[in-house]
Amino acid sequence: MTLKLFNTLSKKKEKFVPVDEKNIRMYVCGPTLYNNPHIGNFRPIVIFDILFRLLRDIYKIENVTYVRNITDIDDKIINTSKNLGISSEELVSKFKKTFSDDLISLNILNPSKEPSATEYIDQMILMISDLISKDFAYEASDHVLFESKKFNDYGKLSKLSPKDIISGARVEVADYKKNPEDFVLWKPSKEGEPYWESPWGKGRPGWHMECSAMSYEILGSNFDIHGGGVDLIFPHHENEIAQSSCFHGEQTAQVWMHNGFVNFSGEKMSKSLGNIKTVNELLNSYSGDVIKYSLLTAHYRQPLEFSDNLLTSSLSILEKWADFQNWDLDSAVGYDNEFMEYLFDDLNTPGCLMRLQQIFNLIKKDPQNKELKGYFVNGLNLFGLNPTITKKELKIDVKYIENMISQRSLAKEAKNFNEADKIRDELQKQGIILEDSPKVTTWKQT
Ligand SMILES: [Zn+2]
Repeated sequence: MTLKLFNTLSKKKEKFVPVDEKNIRMYVCGPTLYNNPHIGNFRPIVIFDILFRLLRDIYKIENVTYVRNITDIDDKIINTSKNLGISSEELVSKFKKTFSDDLISLNILNPSKEPSATEYIDQMILMISDLISKDFAYEASDHVLFESKKFNDYGKLSKLSPKDIISGARVEVADYKKNPEDFVLWKPSKEGEPYWESPWGKGRPGWHMECSAMSYEILGSNFDIHGGGVDLIFPHHENEIAQSSCFHGEQTAQVWMHNGFVNFSGEKMSKSLGNIKTVNELLNSYSGDVIKYSLLTAHYRQPLEFSDNLLTSSLSILEKWADFQNWDLDSAVGYDNEFMEYLFDDLNTPGCLMRLQQIFNLIKKDPQNKELKGYFVNGLNLFGLNPTITKKELKIDVKYIENMISQRSLAKEAKNFNEADKIRDELQKQGIILEDSPKVTTWKQT
């Protein structure tokens, strides 16, 4: 069976040919920890975890290196920590804790390495100096900028021409830039902001430079797979390709993979709409298995419509599947062929889940069939799904809580603070703690 993956570079599904079969290397852009990661941030984490498990299965565990970074310095982190009056380290460590709890709940394997950007500042400075010496980058007003037009292939990933890039206003305009499409490699830090000493003064790296330096340092100049969300194609990955290729002269990654957006109840999740669902919040009402199963119900390149209905229907399937814990099975049978065909076909996880359901139905008709049971459980294991946990489901009435929260917001708007406090206390008695931020109120279980 041949693994096929869709490559954003060629816009085609391609046969996966490793650079070196004994050294498979994959890099995935991890979260920027300035808040609790939402369900959309977890989609690449879940999908590339499954690809990691599959690659380990095909090429052996010891031959696969998977790097997923943590962005621990960037504008969003700095602005949020300023607003909260804490240091950026404090902010990042707070969300790192929740993030790692969420990963455990969703049974995500630890990547081989999980570097933080701030551990690689020296390497970033070296790369930037090299790009200046090769005349791909220039210094202007304490910034260092990459001159995009000097890289002939600029736009090859996003298929955007320089004209598209400028006219689409997808670039930041600044008077110190030679050309509007040039992007920042290094920027000066303002008073009170975190900084590192550099040949260009006190400052910090641009976000794109972080991933270029970490992937090069850990995986080298030509590795197999680079992944992330579709929103990273431009500018993040386009700029990574430009600066990395000009630095080391190679292609960087062979296959560039991107997952689609997650919408919540028909709308794109956004801060302004107040409909962001963090995984941590969802874990109050659903097990990690249910969340993971829900994320796998659409092909990773398609948008995913996330909703309470999707979670509920995933829960009811997993509750039935949890039967397997009482089975006498033959796990030495390996994998079901049809299940693997779906997975090898650009990670068609909805096909895999459908096939697991078919196998489950066959087992119901033929309960003595240990072979089928082995196929079923091996399939679940390959996805890191363990429906036994589902049975320990916490039964919380989310609708009731959300209704109480909106009543409380109305009371607050009407300046009826007694009523608002009464609602908060009532929820607290039931083990629900409310947390107010300027725009939304979230809740968690004690
Ligand atoms: Zn990145």
